[in-house]
Amino acid sequence: MGTPLRVVVDEMGGGFREPVKALHIGGPLGGLVPMSKIDDLSIDFESFASNGFLLGHASILSVPERFPLVKYLEHLFAFTAHESCGKCFPCRIGSVRGKELLQKAQSENYQIDRELWNDLLETLEKGSLCALGGGIPLPVKNAMQYFSEELKPYFSRG
Ligand code: SF4
Repeated sequence: MGTPLRVVVDEMGGGFREPVKALHIGGPLGGLVPMSKIDDLSIDFESFASNGFLLGHASILSVPERFPLVKYLEHLFAFTAHESCGKCFPCRIGSVRGKELLQKAQSENYQIDRELWNDLLETLEKGSLCALGGGIPLPVKNAMQYFSEELKPYFSRG
C-alpha cells in the first residue's frame, strides 16, 4: 500500500508489451484509469477516491490502444447482466438495456441519446440494491470523461 502506480506498472510489472490506453483497476466495477492519470495515483484508497476512481480489490487490467472502448463498455454491461441476480429492476433491466444500446450503436446507423444514457447510469447508481448494479456506472463515467473523442461517434450531441 502506498506504492506509486507508475512503480507497480513499470518496475514491478515490467511495463507493457504494446501501447495501452487505460488501466481498469479494482475489477469490473472499479475505475477506468486513462494512462494520463497514472502518475497521479498510488496504491491506496484515498488517492483513487480523490481522483474519481475506486481501488477495489486492486487488480489491474490493461486495455490496449487497439481495443475499441465501446466494445469494452459493452463487455462491462454484458458482465453485469450475466452476474445480475435479478432482485432489483435497475440492475436486471438496466444492465441488459445498456448492452443493447451499445450493440445497436456499433451495428446500426444509431447514436445513443446522451440524456437517456445519463438517466440509465443514474438509475443504476441510485436504484440498485447492491454494488453490482450500483457500481457499473463508475467505469462507464470514467470512459465518457476521458475517452469522449473515441466514444463521440456512438452518442448524440447534447
Ligand atoms: S444490483 Fe444486486 S440485488 Fe440488484 S439485481 Fe443486481 S445483483 Fe441483484
